[in-house]
Amino acid sequence: MTQIDIKPPQLGAAAAAFLAKGPQKLLIGGEWVESQSGATFDTLDPATGSVISKLQRANAADVDAAVAAARKAFETGPWPSMTPMERSQLLWKIADIMEANIDELSELETLDQGKALYVGRWAEIPGAIAQFRYFSGMATKIEGSTIPTSINYQPEGKQVFAYTRLEAVGVVGAILPWNSPLVLTAMKIAPALAAGCTMVLKPSEETSLTTVRLLELIQEAGLPEGVLNLVTGFGGEVGQPLAEHMDVNKIVFTGSTATGRRIVEASKGNLKRVGVELGGKSPVIIMDDADLDAAIPGAANAIFFNGGQVCIAGSRLYAHSSVYDKVVEGMAAQAQAIQLGHGLDPNTHMGPLISKGHASKVAGFIADGKKAGASILTGGETAGPNESFVTPTVIADVSPDMSVVREEIFGPVVVVTRFDDADEVVAAANDSDFGLAAGIWTEGLSNATRLAERIHAGTVWINSHAMYDAALPIGGMKQSGYGRESGQAAMDNYLELKTVCAIV
Ligand code: NAD
Repeated sequence: MTQIDIKPPQLGAAAAAFLAKGPQKLLIGGEWVESQSGATFDTLDPATGSVISKLQRANAADVDAAVAAARKAFETGPWPSMTPMERSQLLWKIADIMEANIDELSELETLDQGKALYVGRWAEIPGAIAQFRYFSGMATKIEGSTIPTSINYQPEGKQVFAYTRLEAVGVVGAILPWNSPLVLTAMKIAPALAAGCTMVLKPSEETSLTTVRLLELIQEAGLPEGVLNLVTGFGGEVGQPLAEHMDVNKIVFTGSTATGRRIVEASKGNLKRVGVELGGKSPVIIMDDADLDAAIPGAANAIFFNGGQVCIAGSRLYAHSSVYDKVVEGMAAQAQAIQLGHGLDPNTHMGPLISKGHASKVAGFIADGKKAGASILTGGETAGPNESFVTPTVIADVSPDMSVVREEIFGPVVVVTRFDDADEVVAAANDSDFGLAAGIWTEGLSNATRLAERIHAGTVWINSHAMYDAALPIGGMKQSGYGRESGQAAMDNYLELKTVCAIV
């Protein structure tokens, strides 16, 4: 049994003051309110299992109230009449306020989600802030076009003048997962506000705290009431009524492929628009000419960052036969060097998984692999006072039909397979229901560009993994979803195209 030294978490004064205010409330029409039923639920520190705060347990009645507030703000509030420049300035101000509170936000994210502090403080929350800055610029660049037509039946002396407008899609419901709450939420709020939409947010029941705090900060920035509304609670009680709601124009969802299917089904009543960012089982390919000093730590980081709870995690590693032994040995050494601990402990490289239940699910996949004949080279244990840690795991001797190779495990578990040529590795990499991302490690330009073209994935990284930028579109092919976030492409999620054709 792996021993983990869990030091009692130390919080800064701001994060402690936020927690002391609990139970946290819902935000509806600019007011912080309790759920209509009065019910609350506990949110836990995943490392220890202890209660850190209480959240409102909303239901369909609260969803109705939040959608009504968002509708009112969209149709009649000050929001529709604000100029693009005013929206742009507001988004920039939100980024400034987040930046000023980044330490508090990072501590809360770690306490609630479990991630090692550096993950939030130096990667995800700066990434969230960058979303607001990038889409601040987009607010002033939403442009239609004029269209010359061949219409020739206009009245004598008149002309046809035709043009398009890009208009906000309306009230947007956003349903979020627990792995990287703030940055994934920012990836939806920032383009939606730039477009002029209003929103109802439903964070994961596991990790709602930083969304509550973010909305407090956004209120400080001066967002008109009702533009952003927050309903906390469970998937079936809040997410489902939001996805079904007849007055919601669009649902944007990030989460598992299984729930994504339910969202698509639930949205059909009013044929609302849907965008779904779903799971992955991303291949990482190490070619025979790769720089192994970069590729091995790169491949280790691709799977072990945030405990493997990353949609684009490089969970299937393919190593060319000529480098296979070195890669396997290197991956095991990297895994063993990872320091597990409470996310708020500065020495921690990897925190717990989100919950005891999730750790046990991950352990179940590892056990299934073992039963099917795979070799666990290192790791494979659950640990910690709440049994929520999984030791970084490297698995070899796998075959393509095993569940460890096919399913998204969403934990620190990588399977390593050898290959001999490019055709073989392309076929293996594409033999998946998912198509979210891929990584290729090679010093050869033609290897890199040809493989990048042949791999079925929404993003391909070359000699890197998980290089995110607010300007780079990200999203899935196949059952990893549809739609793209970040970059100009993200604006398509929140805009409708209107054609105007006039006789003038
Ligand atoms: P999940 O699908 O279990 O839950 C996501 C959200 O959906 C939660 O807020 C949950 O309450 C809600 N929900 C659950 N049932 C619902 C229902 N019937 N109707 C409406 N809402 C419902 O996902 P998770 O376990 O929170 O997150 C992990 C998953 O998210 C992984 O599969 C991961 O790959 C995926 N993910 C994808 C991306 C991406 O960009 N593609 C990014 C991050 C995470």
